[in-house]
Amino acid sequence: MIEDNYPKWAWKDGSFIPYEDCTVHVRTQAVMVAGSVFEGIKAFWNVSSNSLYLFRLEEHIQRLRESMKMMRMQTTLPSDFGSICVELLERNSFTEDVHMMPTAYVGEGEGNVALARGAIEGLFITGVARPRSGFIDKGMRACISSWTRNSDNNTPPRIKAAGNYQNGRLALNEAWAAGYDYSILLNNAGTVSEGPGACLMMVRGGQVNTPPVTAGILESITRDTLMTLFQEKMGMTVVERLIDRTELYTAEEVFVCGSGMDVVPIISVDNITVGDGNKGPMTQAIQDAYFRVGTGEDPAHPEWRTGLESIAGA
Ligand code: PMP
Repeated sequence: MIEDNYPKWAWKDGSFIPYEDCTVHVRTQAVMVAGSVFEGIKAFWNVSSNSLYLFRLEEHIQRLRESMKMMRMQTTLPSDFGSICVELLERNSFTEDVHMMPTAYVGEGEGNVALARGAIEGLFITGVARPRSGFIDKGMRACISSWTRNSDNNTPPRIKAAGNYQNGRLALNEAWAAGYDYSILLNNAGTVSEGPGACLMMVRGGQVNTPPVTAGILESITRDTLMTLFQEKMGMTVVERLIDRTELYTAEEVFVCGSGMDVVPIISVDNITVGDGNKGPMTQAIQDAYFRVGTGEDPAHPEWRTGLESIAGA
């Protein structure tokens, strides 16, 4: 085990089992050829009320169903899948933010062939404590990747498939090797798509813009949340439009968002400073609004929080 703070329980194919036993064989298509689709769901811990809320659980479950459908998987999610996710949180007695990953995987195929027909399929759910990233305040220095974002006609970004993450891995490894914190990928039309694990928003001329869902992005639930919160809390409509690379160089603010990463400022792109090189006021405002709604400190959108209220003993 790499970490000593692993939780006690996981869930796999119908049962709660010890986290350590939640494994698949190395010969599964999941391991050998990235045969799985998954979700990353944030659970926010509210310090003052000792409550833990899974954020937008139903929307994540729906996206998992859609990923499975697009991959023509035969497995269906149990009708009480959401309750199983909540029970897993409860059993693990978390008292901090959690990142939960329900996954549908492809097992071993006939004749040990990597892409064999008729392979068994299965489901598992794991959730681990995930503190907020250190980049939330200090921001990340990003580069534009020399790699192109995968596109709808090869490995569609709309499917949250493990295989898609090789594209992000190439981009991040390249960025890290060059001394950057993060990378932003252009799509096959040459406009901005997203970063590994997060969608992008840009403030330019006082307007918030984000690439459309047809620009080679995952249909991000956090992106949708921020678009709603910009409208409701600041009276601003986020404009979905194509974004050029050089617009990022002259933007007032750039930030990325996702369930795992939350909302993280991008303070430079290709070593060109964005704004004044610090987290900008709009980024700060939307970060605050996001965390307040996620933790339930702001009671708006109760339908977005599925919770364990006032966890005993916390
Ligand atoms: N794009 C990619 C490639 C991602 O992996 C993620 C994280 N799931 C996102 C965007 C953000 O999506 P969401 O807000 O639904 O977590």
